[in-house]
Amino acid sequence: MKLLEKTYEPQKLEDEIYKNWKDKGYFHAEVDENKKPFTIVIPPPNITGQLHMGHALNNTLQDVLIRMKRMQGYSALWLPGTDHASIATEAKIVEAMKEEGLSKADIGREGFLKRAWQWNEKYGNRIVEQLKKLGSSCDWERQRFTMDEGLSKAVSAVFVKLYDKGLIYKGERIINWCPVCNTSISDAEVEYSEKEGKLWHIRYPIKDSDEYVTVATTRPETILGDTAIAVHPDDDRYRDLVGRTVVLPLMNREIPIVADEYVEMEFGTGMVKVTPAHDPNDFEIGERHKLEIIKVINDDATMGENAKDYAGLDRYEARKRIVRDLEALGLLIKIDKHVHNVGSCYRCDTVIEPLVSLQWFVRMEELAAPAVKAVKEGNIEFIPERFVKTYLNWMENIRDWCISRQLWWGHRIPAYYCSNCGHIVVSEEKPEKCPKCSNEELKQDEDTLDTWFSSALWPFSTLGWPEETPELKYFYPTNVLVTAYDIIFFWVARMIFSGLEHMGERPFEYVMFTGLVRDELGRKMSKSLGNGIDPLDVIENYGTDALRYAVMIGNATGNDLRLSDQKLQAGRNFANKIWNAARFVLMNFDDEPDFDSIDMKNLDSADKWILSRLNATVGEVTANLEKFELGIALQKVYEFIWEEFCDWYIELVKPRLYDKESKGRKEAQYVLNKVLCGSMKLLHPFMPFVTEEIYKNLWNDDESIMISQWPIFGEDSVFKAEEDAMEFIMKAIRGIRNARAEMNVPPSRKARIIIVSNEPSIRQNAADSESYFVKLANASEVEIKKEEIDIPKGAVAVVLDGATIFMPLTDLLDIEKETARLEGEAANLRKEIARAEGKLKNENFVKKAPANLVEAEKEKLEKFSAMLRETEHRMEELKSI
Ligand SMILES: [Zn+2]
Ligand SMILES: [Zn+2]
Repeated sequence: MKLLEKTYEPQKLEDEIYKNWKDKGYFHAEVDENKKPFTIVIPPPNITGQLHMGHALNNTLQDVLIRMKRMQGYSALWLPGTDHASIATEAKIVEAMKEEGLSKADIGREGFLKRAWQWNEKYGNRIVEQLKKLGSSCDWERQRFTMDEGLSKAVSAVFVKLYDKGLIYKGERIINWCPVCNTSISDAEVEYSEKEGKLWHIRYPIKDSDEYVTVATTRPETILGDTAIAVHPDDDRYRDLVGRTVVLPLMNREIPIVADEYVEMEFGTGMVKVTPAHDPNDFEIGERHKLEIIKVINDDATMGENAKDYAGLDRYEARKRIVRDLEALGLLIKIDKHVHNVGSCYRCDTVIEPLVSLQWFVRMEELAAPAVKAVKEGNIEFIPERFVKTYLNWMENIRDWCISRQLWWGHRIPAYYCSNCGHIVVSEEKPEKCPKCSNEELKQDEDTLDTWFSSALWPFSTLGWPEETPELKYFYPTNVLVTAYDIIFFWVARMIFSGLEHMGERPFEYVMFTGLVRDELGRKMSKSLGNGIDPLDVIENYGTDALRYAVMIGNATGNDLRLSDQKLQAGRNFANKIWNAARFVLMNFDDEPDFDSIDMKNLDSADKWILSRLNATVGEVTANLEKFELGIALQKVYEFIWEEFCDWYIELVKPRLYDKESKGRKEAQYVLNKVLCGSMKLLHPFMPFVTEEIYKNLWNDDESIMISQWPIFGEDSVFKAEEDAMEFIMKAIRGIRNARAEMNVPPSRKARIIIVSNEPSIRQNAADSESYFVKLANASEVEIKKEEIDIPKGAVAVVLDGATIFMPLTDLLDIEKETARLEGEAANLRKEIARAEGKLKNENFVKKAPANLVEAEKEKLEKFSAMLRETEHRMEELKSI
């Protein structure tokens, strides 16, 4: 006989089970023309990362899908890897160097990169090991890194290809500059938030007149870089002013008044200052009107040389002084409060500075168009669909992507400059000499690429691109991408246009967005609130399956998730419940049960009912999973196992199991084993460890549940009549239990049950189920009648569809005792009534007491009188029996 340990101890089993799966090679997926491929590429965690609840949610979802597809017979590849995370990693290393008193300049580029690689070696795999604790069934033999040789090759190939097509260019453009990170950042890396600011109204004198124009600005320090004033061409107020010249305050520079459609007539005075060097929209106005670009703010957010008297000041200090000086000149008219959107660096939260700078850009218009089309036409589907709008909004208004970063950790831009003639060569390998002047001294661009440039290629670079590998041919395009919605622009959008551009095919068919994991009060988990839950602690305390259960159960894709200790405990309790059920079943098995000789004809209605219910659950759960309704799928498996299998079926078959001579014992064992095997398979993708441990102790021919076959809904396992029959019996038992509970009847007190129905099939069903009423409804005996004759007076009735069940009151209650109890109660009520009546007859009380007290007393009187009537009625009834 096989036996399970008395209690389920996940901590003792999980690592060993995981190691066994890995050693047996179950995670590995091969190109197999006899199977259909199913591919998911992992969102590569940063090498600086530590497992948090977001990862737990995201990776559990991926693992559920991949485990199900593997069981369905697909060659299911979950391709793992990590991201070098240039800006985040570089910041960590700089921080660590600071403690040693070193700066980047001290050790130089080479020394720095050496440290970075060492850092990666030391910490880069930490997150990978943590993902394994989650039970992730990734193909670790195919693990990649965004800076490994192959992926770096893909990056250079793409850069060169786009450059040759004219889709990558170097140019002076407005970029977002983070003065603290000391690098340009892309539009997607800027976070906007509404901030309380001010609107300064400033006068600019019109040249050769006593007149002024008035403009409003939120950033007076940029005045120093103004090169025009702009008005809307349709603005009648200012029509005459267009073409005239104003004198820039503080700088005494002459600048033109231009007309441009960009200006909003309703905003401020309808006149705006134009600072092409420090505002993206002004930059475009400048291009249209060929305005000079004067940069007055440095990369470190101090004022530059062009700021003359203000040079060297911090930008905010300069603002103060400029406002003061304008006021002294009488040019400051007023200051309004003003709420506006301020962009901050997503990494360090510093207010970004839009700057004109020489950077590398990807021209987006041509690349974005097919990426918009693919999503619009449903070639790539978003789940939930509401994120389509977010995506399209961004993509349809996209600006060129600034891809150069002033960082060292990352893919260095493959552009080489001739020291002699200045010619630029873009090439995967360093050229030996300048193709123009044959000079051999060529210097590579100092900058590296935006970290997302390489992750944009992830779905195909990881499969070997630009080589045409069999893997690439077989596993691409991938099927599902599971990702957090906050990286829809950083990553999802860029993978889509990259896949379409370089592979000529969408990178994935579906994108499943995950929400944020919040605490039980709905707050974001954060260090400062101290409300974070560490997944590794949870695994330690409750087991991995409990964690996976808690992040999956009932959660709808894309919605934020509220996680509480209660949910985690529920997960652990569920694992224990299944364990105990399986343990009980196994204890009641024979040494070598002979299931081959089972004759299906010998199964009773309970057996057929549970088999039919399992079959229905298989159909529903599979459909839910195919539709990515993972939270609902788990809920259904849970309800089937807990309620139908454990609470009902096991209870129903206990008498047959206990009686070694019973006719249906072997059949019960057969069904228990079959239903347990089937339901463990359905649960396996969600709770892989406990299901594996149980499954291997059940009777089946599989080496592991992980590679067993996913159950298939079968028409021949639909037993409608038996399902209906059992539903009736369960309803009847529930009705009897409820009636007993309402009357506080102790379980030890058995009662006769009289089932009356004029339908022969119901009577037959009831007769077949006699033992269930005895076992589960405390029946002393079961009587079945066609008509309501000889029903004891005052019997309790449970009315069902097609039948009524009676229980004699004398069976449920001790009449004498009950009568005495009711008499006592009636006496008490009479006392209360007398007291209330006394009060209400007292004129003093009625006149002097507050109205609400008098009213309350009246209500009491009514209530007690009604209760007394009911009690007396009950006593009359008892007397008549
Ligand atoms: Zn920053
Ligand atoms: Zn040259």
